[in-house]
Amino acid sequence: MLKNLPNEVKIVEVGPRDGLQNEKMIVPTEDKVKYILLLGDSGLKNIEVTSFVRPDRIPQMTDAKEVIESLNKTNIKNNVNLSCLIPNLKGLEIASKLGVKEIAVFSSTSDAFNKKNINSTVLESLNIIQPVMKEALKLDIRVRAYISTVFGCPYEGKPKSLDSLKRVADFFVKEGAYELSLSDTVGHGNPKEVVSVLECLEGSIERKRLAMHMHDTRGLALSNILTGLEMGVSTFDGSSGGLGGCPYAKGASGNCATEELVYLFESMGISTGVDINKLKEASSFVLEKLERKSPSKFLQAYKG
Ligand code: MG
Repeated sequence: MLKNLPNEVKIVEVGPRDGLQNEKMIVPTEDKVKYILLLGDSGLKNIEVTSFVRPDRIPQMTDAKEVIESLNKTNIKNNVNLSCLIPNLKGLEIASKLGVKEIAVFSSTSDAFNKKNINSTVLESLNIIQPVMKEALKLDIRVRAYISTVFGCPYEGKPKSLDSLKRVADFFVKEGAYELSLSDTVGHGNPKEVVSVLECLEGSIERKRLAMHMHDTRGLALSNILTGLEMGVSTFDGSSGGLGGCPYAKGASGNCATEELVYLFESMGISTGVDINKLKEASSFVLEKLERKSPSKFLQAYKG
């Protein structure tokens, strides 16, 4: 156990997008940009900065274009791979004009979740995503795909089988996603289920192209991540400061805090490339703007 661990892991920072989109208080564009620059300064090499979703659905992301325009005026792109979430062709068109080189697309494995979120079944949503992925690849834009509700759905509970996961994963691989991020949307998963999910995808995609996007709703994010690490996953999503909370349970933890990922890996001698003190500065900056405390145990213990 814990014998064949990698020397380094890749961290994908999702705080500015996944974190902020679940925060009610709107952060001004210039503060979002400063937050992203601070994240870049901490050594994070992959940051999802915004999403081109309907502003009436997610008001926090109304300034997606302005955020990218501002970042384009800095030199962050020299060191950091910036991406944004794209739901449709219209969003892709705007992003490509802004010079975005990587996008993320998404689908869940649950019809009930998809219906509530984007008013379409899983199959219908894949039909919308397919031309987006084709067009992106034509434009030389890399595509990362999120699969949500892998370990459970807030409306349907735990999946009865992994068939839907396999179908969605196979679709994304066939359409050319370079990485699949397996999301535990409401923190339903446990380590045994991580094993089942990873085994189910064997043959569909190499493990080094999988990422885990775990939520700490029930306190098991790091246990699940460690299980994935042992099984050969080496890319993990985190939200700095644990930003985002859980949209389905007020006050509950949501996204796994990037600080906890960095601490877990670095304390075991696995390099993340991230300076945790600088990362804390970025988190403190945005948490202050949001007038809230971090749900992360790490940040509560080491505020200074
Ligand atoms: Mg998340």
